[in-house]
Amino acid sequence: MEFIDLKAQYRALKTSIDARIHKVLEHGQYILGPEVAEMEQKLAAYTGAKHCISCASGTEALLMSLLALGIGPGDEVITTPFTFVATAEMIVLAGAKPVYVDIERDTCLIDATKIVAKITPRTRAIIPVSLYGQVADMDAINAIAAQHGIAVIEDAAQSFGATYQGRRSGNLSTIGCTSFFPSKPLGCYGDGGALFTNDDALAKALREIRVHGQERRYYHTRIGVGGRMDTIQCAVVLGKLERFDWEVERRLALGDAYGKMLQDAGAKAGLLTVRPDRDCVWAQYTVFVENREAVQKALQAQGVPTAVHYPVALNRQPAYRDDASAAETVHSQWAAERVMSLPMSADLTMEQMERVVAALAAA
Ligand SMILES: *Cc1c(COP(=O)(O)O)cnc(C)c1O
Repeated sequence: MEFIDLKAQYRALKTSIDARIHKVLEHGQYILGPEVAEMEQKLAAYTGAKHCISCASGTEALLMSLLALGIGPGDEVITTPFTFVATAEMIVLAGAKPVYVDIERDTCLIDATKIVAKITPRTRAIIPVSLYGQVADMDAINAIAAQHGIAVIEDAAQSFGATYQGRRSGNLSTIGCTSFFPSKPLGCYGDGGALFTNDDALAKALREIRVHGQERRYYHTRIGVGGRMDTIQCAVVLGKLERFDWEVERRLALGDAYGKMLQDAGAKAGLLTVRPDRDCVWAQYTVFVENREAVQKALQAQGVPTAVHYPVALNRQPAYRDDASAAETVHSQWAAERVMSLPMSADLTMEQMERVVAALAAA
């Protein structure tokens, strides 16, 4: 069994993906070719955002969003310590300081009720992370941001396709950042990412930043990056979009089924809570277990692969160590010690899921 079965997806979409890649090889516009604009239009329409700007990766999207907002040295950005490293890494790389707010224990998402206490005159933005495919409490976060005149950047790398009160992840705040890393809910066959915004000036800034801050060819009005997504990767995303609605439906259904089957089997695994006003596209199907290492070994022996997202909160990582906040973010620490992700993809079969659940119940 694969942890994420990307080969089954390729088999299902092979004809279309192969044809689209070959078209790029033939027309030869490998950088910013027609597929790039086509993908951006389709993704903007999908999320409902006015602008979509593709970029080199989810990490690059985060950096570009901070640059576009003019965030740098002396500024603070509030985020969660329980996330993939790129969220805090790009804040530090932009020259700003990450300020960590703990998560809600049942969702593993930033606790919006704890944000206001961390706002200072230096705070410029909040970066909630839509971890595992569920969006944080964006209404509450947007309201706090509006009150303090600061921006909200959604790290939607794991949540493309998810909804919050009927609206799509990526289009819920000042800027949304997503990733097309192969294992994400919408992936390409290499690195890729995208930014979403409804703000014309920010969209213009992001398009310039993507190409070394140039306003026109070789005329540089700001500091940027080499941050383009290549045409072939956009062609792959276009191929995958053909059955993406089906994949999202499958992910929602498989997530529900996993929860019910784990409970029915009496597995000693705590389930994540999905709030009633949103859904979760389960970039990872993650549960809480005690004695994680032993459970992982027992599952491995049954041929069931698992992974840990993430074993160490960022404020306890050597490069990001922040003892004062680490002492406060107790739920992040609790979750880091217990989370374990099970095999998940739109092509996961019921039989495979039954095997996973049986192995976990036995462990
Ligand atoms: C994957 C991920 C990123 C980075 O995306 P890349 O495309 O791999 O650079 C950022 N944040 C979160 C929460 C992620 O899961």
